[in-house]
Amino acid sequence: MTFENSRAAGIKSSPSMAIAMAAKKLAAEGRDIIDLSLGEPDFEPPAHVADAAIEAIRKGRIRYGVPAGQENLRQAIAAKFRTENGLTYAPDEIMVANGAKQILFDVFLATLEPGDEVIIPTPCWVSYGDIVSLHGGKPVYVNCGPETGFKLTPGMLAAAITPRTRWLMLNSPSNPTGAIYSAAEYAALEAVLSRYPQILVLSDEIYEHVLLRDVPFVSFGAACPALRDRTLIVNGVSKAYAMTGWRVGYAAGPRQLMAALNKMQSQSVTSVCPVVQAAALAALTGDQSFVGKGAQTFAGRAMIVAERLALIPELEFTPPDGAFYAFIGVRKLLGYKTAAGEVLADDPAFASHLLTEFGLSSVPGLAFGAPGFIRLSIAASDQELEAACARIARMVNSLK
Ligand code: PLP
Repeated sequence: MTFENSRAAGIKSSPSMAIAMAAKKLAAEGRDIIDLSLGEPDFEPPAHVADAAIEAIRKGRIRYGVPAGQENLRQAIAAKFRTENGLTYAPDEIMVANGAKQILFDVFLATLEPGDEVIIPTPCWVSYGDIVSLHGGKPVYVNCGPETGFKLTPGMLAAAITPRTRWLMLNSPSNPTGAIYSAAEYAALEAVLSRYPQILVLSDEIYEHVLLRDVPFVSFGAACPALRDRTLIVNGVSKAYAMTGWRVGYAAGPRQLMAALNKMQSQSVTSVCPVVQAAALAALTGDQSFVGKGAQTFAGRAMIVAERLALIPELEFTPPDGAFYAFIGVRKLLGYKTAAGEVLADDPAFASHLLTEFGLSSVPGLAFGAPGFIRLSIAASDQELEAACARIARMVNSLK
């Protein structure tokens, strides 16, 4: 019997999760595995986060809440947008959800008609395309390679637009490439978008605080204020505050769009658990030194990986400007044979060999719409990252 409808059957489970499970299975069998497949900080959130959650439980603040999120948290988010991004949003232009991921579900559920197109520059986060498809939309992938710094140019955007285009999705700093758009690059995209008033822009800024070099972050909202009434800014506490499992994301946008998203929330999750909202409030309003220290840690790790990978000339690698991934080109090695005589035809074969024979788990570029690459998370200790690079070097040396 088939249980899935065509929409569910048309998508896959998150590929990075699937690889992480495979790595865990091998580790459970006693294999020495370094798992660099998942993107989550490997340190704990600041202590005041857990304290706030515990206090919320003890004080019994655990009732249903409003779909948009607690007023005090939305005020704190408004203050964050004001002070960090120079953006003015009223609390009723802000919503809280179970992670940035849930906001994407709310957005496409509320706004897409069947066949509406969503432009997604690739390489992109593994979930974007499937979330669009699940809601009846058509992902339109635009391949942005190393030539453009993995970024969408105005020409590429203009060529991808059709009368069915409903959304443009942007993600800076990018998962998986770490690319960061400048204000001028955004302004150039805005010049195209200004000719198409029906297109909405979703800017996923979840890695805003994970800056690894001297490249500054700029919010799309700040760079393109003229598009305010059709821009949705998505962010959350997962990456900046090492709060991945707490599941708190937030978004800001025009009031009518937010009302539509809140309607989706009210008929699905009802409201986000008040305990995690209390924790997110503490994260956003407490001592912010944790955020900068986290970025510094990742910057040091990115440097280690860059130094080690530079010693392997067969790889293509540009150190990332932001986020916590190394996106590595393995194109020159495809077609080579393993010691056992197996041909490495593509990046999934490369990643699979790296895991099964050398004990290093990565995500193939195909999952990000970028064949010929693999992604390593650098959210791991210096020692693990050094060992991981050594395993890649051993694998490359073993190929014929
Ligand atoms: N957006 C991007 C680009 C991500 O990489 C991730 C998580 O990996 C998310 C959104 C999801 O964030 P959240 O934990 O808030 O759902």
